[in-house]
Amino acid sequence: MSYVKLENRPASWWRCRAATIGQMIDQGWVVWSVCNACFLVMPADLDWFAFRLGDEETLWNRHPSCRRLGCRGTITFHGTPPAINRCMELRAEWAETTPTVPPRLAPEQRERPLPDPAQPEASRRFRP
Ligand SMILES: [Zn+2]
Repeated sequence: MSYVKLENRPASWWRCRAATIGQMIDQGWVVWSVCNACFLVMPADLDWFAFRLGDEETLWNRHPSCRRLGCRGTITFHGTPPAINRCMELRAEWAETTPTVPPRLAPEQRERPLPDPAQPEASRRFRP
């Protein structure tokens, strides 16, 4: 396969690359939950998810119910890896070619999340 720039790789590639919450933390992802009904956007604290679910768990293709009172919608997670600063829905099949998955990193070696990462499309609706 010829080289494809990181910016042009599909979500399925990123799913392989950052399949688990632990990998996302290592790679400096910033993640949000977005409701498909009321479009409530909330930051998803990866450390909290790792504590609660374990760092081998995944947020890809997970659709828990919305936390807003009275809303019956479901959530899709969206995430931005600092390597490309593009926000993508965490909804994908596995890639056909498996990328090399980097080994887990010690906390001091982790990539830092971007200070102003690209946010989900839905969060723009409520900006003045
Ligand atoms: Zn909702």
